[in-house]
Amino acid sequence: MSRERITIGGCPKCGSELLTCQQNHFQNDELEIISWEHKCPDCGFRQTEAFRSDDEDEEFDPAAAAACPFCGRTAELSD
Ligand SMILES: [Zn+2]
Ligand SMILES: [Zn+2]
Repeated sequence: MSRERITIGGCPKCGSELLTCQQNHFQNDELEIISWEHKCPDCGFRQTEAFRSDDEDEEFDPAAAAACPFCGRTAELSD
C-alpha cells in the first residue's frame, strides 16, 4: 500500500487552497486497486474514483489509472 498526497488547492466548492489530491495503491497477488481522492479540509468536499483490476465492466488500464481523473496529474507507481 502506497500513498501519495499533494496539496493542489482550488476547491470547486469553497475555493480553498488546502484541497488535496491523494492516490492510494493497493496490490496483492491477484487484485490491484488504484484509487484517487480529492478532499477539502475546509468544507468537506470529497470525490473519489477507483480503478480495480477485477472490475468486469471496465478493463483495467494501469496507464489510465496512473493519472488522476480529476486533475490529471500523474503519480509514480512504485512498490
Ligand atoms: Zn472546500
Ligand atoms: Zn487529482
